[in-house]
Amino acid sequence: MKFRSTLAQLRAFDPPAALRDTTRPLLNLALNENSLGSSPAVAAAVAAALPQLHRYPPTFSDALRQALARRHGVAADRFLVGNGIFELLGLITQAFVAEGDEVVIPTPSFGWYAISARAAGARIVAVPLAAHAIDLDAVAAAVTPATRLVWLCNPHNPMGSLVAAGAIRRLLERLPADVAVVLDEAYAEYARPADLPDSAHWIDEHPNLIVLRTFSKAFGLAGLRVGYAIASPPAVRELGKLKSPPNVNSLAQVAALAALGDEDFLRRSVATVHEAARAYPGFCASRGLGYVPTHANFVMIDLGQDGDAAATEFLRQGIVIRSGSEIGLPSWIRVTLGLEHENRRVFELIDTLLAARRDGAAH
Ligand SMILES: *Cc1c(COP(=O)(O)O)cnc(C)c1O
Repeated sequence: MKFRSTLAQLRAFDPPAALRDTTRPLLNLALNENSLGSSPAVAAAVAAALPQLHRYPPTFSDALRQALARRHGVAADRFLVGNGIFELLGLITQAFVAEGDEVVIPTPSFGWYAISARAAGARIVAVPLAAHAIDLDAVAAAVTPATRLVWLCNPHNPMGSLVAAGAIRRLLERLPADVAVVLDEAYAEYARPADLPDSAHWIDEHPNLIVLRTFSKAFGLAGLRVGYAIASPPAVRELGKLKSPPNVNSLAQVAALAALGDEDFLRRSVATVHEAARAYPGFCASRGLGYVPTHANFVMIDLGQDGDAAATEFLRQGIVIRSGSEIGLPSWIRVTLGLEHENRRVFELIDTLLAARRDGAAH
């Protein structure tokens, strides 16, 4: 057999190695999961669905689409439900990108954009961030006649920054209509509604826009794998041809529906993150540490010392975080915002690292 040559340049996308060690309890602050868990309504809905496990799930997650249509105030034919955003990213790349096409990716960003583009044999045009945020002018300038796809992550992973609605809108107006623009809003629920683009309502005017949302973060369903695209009906139709027919399992469909119905859990989950997001700036400022004000459930901090060594020390203390070295910021770390006592542990550990460095410098 002969594998496609594009595979040779790929590595499997894998969470931090530490998380593969299942023999000891670790506080996972590396994957931006929901520190509150998930809604009790989800457990009840999943239990109620167990007698029907021998049935195939609805192919297009119809009940969930109807509920999403009500939530976003746009018609149900604008929704494609997927096995998490991960699946939808792959479908989008397959639908638009062929060998040699260009894909514009603000960099650093969510790693799977580049991996799926490479798998398709595309040429990746990496656009550096400016002041830790997507540089939309540079993105517009990077688009050429060969560009088929532009990835925008807003709020941005890994920086936590947000680009303003007006600026995204101006970009859409500047770009040719034959370039697909994906707005990955995995962290949208954490942004203040006033800051967040009303992007679901831009699709009539910009049918080349695809908005992605997930149940993995604020809804706390990362283990069940449900995400969705909001897109023009032709885009929903074309992407729907590529997905595997039963792509979202039946438990995931009922769980997502139940999660949508529990506004109280969502409010608590967002409030928990906002509380942590308020605690970090004070902590960082009082220690003289750089940080990026966050619109998501994680924060980037400049420790002023080796991020890899810091992550190793965190792991020794039972906490998994990400080192900025993965994204070319070797003195930074990325930490998921957790419960109050979890954040306190992070602060204590950072203080220990800073004290060790001061002592080291004094001797
Ligand atoms: C977590 C995350 C995802 C993954 O979403 P799933 O729905 O769990 O596949 C997608 N995009 C970004 C930017 C993320 O941070």
